[in-house]
Amino acid sequence: MKLLKIDHLGIAVNSIEEGKNFWTDVLGLPLEGSETVTEQKTTTAFFPVGESEIELLESTSPDGPVAKFIEKKGQGIQHVAFAVENIEEALQELKEKGVMLIDQKPRTGAGGAKIAFLHPKATNGILVELCQRD
Ligand code: ZN
Repeated sequence: MKLLKIDHLGIAVNSIEEGKNFWTDVLGLPLEGSETVTEQKTTTAFFPVGESEIELLESTSPDGPVAKFIEKKGQGIQHVAFAVENIEEALQELKEKGVMLIDQKPRTGAGGAKIAFLHPKATNGILVELCQRD
């Protein structure tokens, strides 16, 4: 499997509207866009930093994964996403290595990227996302 870079850090916030000021006003990052991924019950906002991005995540529903994360751990880094060259190959390789996956096959994430999550139990507690952008 070939990891290309850290694609983004996903940060869970109660409110993008309130949370974005630190990234824009204090750090001076541009807010590139915002998108709701209905399937994930999540609204995302992207702030590019060099070749990577900060991705703020706000839940659209109290039973969404981001809301559950905040309930358990509070606001903060929710996942780290690596860009891979070929996500199908990467998932196949992980299965062969016996790595526990949340997604057995890629699904569509924000920006139309193909994404898949590894199970935090397989990664010492970190939610890891693989991401392929074409
Ligand atoms: Zn992500």
